[in-house]
Amino acid sequence: MAKDKMICLGCGAAVQSEDPNGIGFVPVSALNREAVLCKRCFRLKHYGEVAHVPLGDDDYLKIIQDIADTDALIVNIVDIFDFTGSWLPGLRRLTGGNKVLLVGNKIDLLPKSTNATKLKHWLYRSSKELGRKVEDVFLISAQTGEGMDELAEAIERYRSGKDVYVVGCTNVGKSTFINRLLRQFAGIQSDVITTSLHPGTTLNLIDFELDGQSALYDTPGVVNRRQMAHLLTTNELKQTMPKTEIKPKVYQLSDRQTLFFAGLGRLDFVNGEARSFVCYFSNELYVHRTKLEKADEVYERNVGEMLRPPEKERKDRLPAFKKHDFTVKNKKVDVVFSGLGWVTVQPGTAQLSAYAPEGVGVSIRESLI
Ligand code: GDP
Repeated sequence: MAKDKMICLGCGAAVQSEDPNGIGFVPVSALNREAVLCKRCFRLKHYGEVAHVPLGDDDYLKIIQDIADTDALIVNIVDIFDFTGSWLPGLRRLTGGNKVLLVGNKIDLLPKSTNATKLKHWLYRSSKELGRKVEDVFLISAQTGEGMDELAEAIERYRSGKDVYVVGCTNVGKSTFINRLLRQFAGIQSDVITTSLHPGTTLNLIDFELDGQSALYDTPGVVNRRQMAHLLTTNELKQTMPKTEIKPKVYQLSDRQTLFFAGLGRLDFVNGEARSFVCYFSNELYVHRTKLEKADEVYERNVGEMLRPPEKERKDRLPAFKKHDFTVKNKKVDVVFSGLGWVTVQPGTAQLSAYAPEGVGVSIRESLI
């Protein structure tokens, strides 16, 4: 059979050997096997492990429509460290009249001093502001298992016999979550995991039987273009994504001072009384303080070197910095650089300018911690 006619026996996707992260990838060395399985189905079958592949917009819309038409419980996973960047575009449309549980993942990255109740309220309010009120909010670490018992119990309670759809953007930890859920709660043998071709799309939904009548469906991750992750190489991502609990760095700044967050973010304290700025970024990310009047020159000279990432050879490929102006009044606020981290600014009138590569979300919110 010609290679371009081959399909994966597991999911029916057209086989290709060019893009290891794409749908239907089979390494050249495995093309001659009798039963050809794509990388995703291979991992599912042999390791009971779920991997996500990116999905085209048409397929995504089709799946959304079908979920909205189904009577089910929706579990939406977001990355607590990048709420705006991981908010699912079209969540309202996707969920229809169904109940939604909002799950904030990667709680292990936040300092232990984080007030969980406040954080949950903030997530609840923010999702309402973004147009989708949720039924309940949970904080978990799919990596360490924290909060998973409580969530599993709540899913069982809220679903009242219905199917469950787990949805989320790429990078929020959805695969990690599903894999843990299976290992931890279903005492999973791989035969309860099946894939069923989703009608009209190139991709199967992976489903896990819950009770004979209903199933839990893992849906494809959706790309949110506002995520910083899309602009960075794997190597650069390693330096920006926090891996362990964040240790905040505190800077006492007077006005006309600037902070750089490697070469990926910048915050100018334009005017206001001197105060502390608390930076929540990966412990490995370099923070540099300078005078506002020298900031442009410091950036030009040092981006890709002292201010790294971006790596030197890529600095010209990153979109140029875009400026966002903010006014602080009598509330403690966080200036958020989507996917990178945030800076907590003490209350009192102040003028700030924040910069990030064009396309990366920069916003201000009531302080979380
Ligand atoms: P998906 O694209 O949503 O399926 O995300 P993955 O499960 O592949 O996870 C994306 C990245 O986040 C990986 O580097 C994971 O190791 C990491 N990750 C997932 N869950 C957690 C968590 O609870 N805590 C931390 N610190 N990292 C996590």
